[in-house]
Amino acid sequence: MVIILLGAPGSGKGSISNYLKEKHGFIHVSTGEVFRRTMAQDTPLANQVKQIMLSGKLVDDDTTNEVVRQEILKINNPQANVIFDGYPRNVKQLEYLNKLLKVDYAIDVQVDKDEIIKRITGRRVCPVCKEIYNIYYKKPKVENTCDKDGSLLVQRNDDQESVVVERYKTYMSLNAPLITACKNMNILHEVKNDQLEHAIKQVKDICNLK
Ligand SMILES: [Zn+2]
Repeated sequence: MVIILLGAPGSGKGSISNYLKEKHGFIHVSTGEVFRRTMAQDTPLANQVKQIMLSGKLVDDDTTNEVVRQEILKINNPQANVIFDGYPRNVKQLEYLNKLLKVDYAIDVQVDKDEIIKRITGRRVCPVCKEIYNIYYKKPKVENTCDKDGSLLVQRNDDQESVVVERYKTYMSLNAPLITACKNMNILHEVKNDQLEHAIKQVKDICNLK
């Protein structure tokens, strides 16, 4: 079974993927992680990715597709249950993936915009142990201080409200054609993630997972 997870940054795709990986043995292909791993290698493809990233450009579709193809080759099991998170990002990537592996379910994880903004802008990180807190959902015992080592927590530049709002808008406009393509392929399902347990139950129902 092949599932692709669509949803804005902060919609909880990572948490849903982790659940399916841990409880249902899915192979989790997260492009963020795959790119980080690729960057640590010394292959022609890795060097190409590094060069693009160093120049500050976005990795183009052909390169992204090739990185994903190599990841899929490693799985080497046509019966494997695989969940994609962060890929495909557009119609071209979707068409490419669907040629490699038949996509069974495209799950659009939806969260209220204000909720997404709170989840991301509330995030604080310990610069020492990297523990992640949230001023709304996972408060440290002492305000702005890491529970584990007492370090002062920081907010990543990427998590500031203006950046988050901009990223959300960009995501929504780029994502619309991908959603339409999934709908036309009859693989699109919508899941509301107001609560993680609730979202997971919906995903399991859609995919007939016990
Ligand atoms: Zn810490």
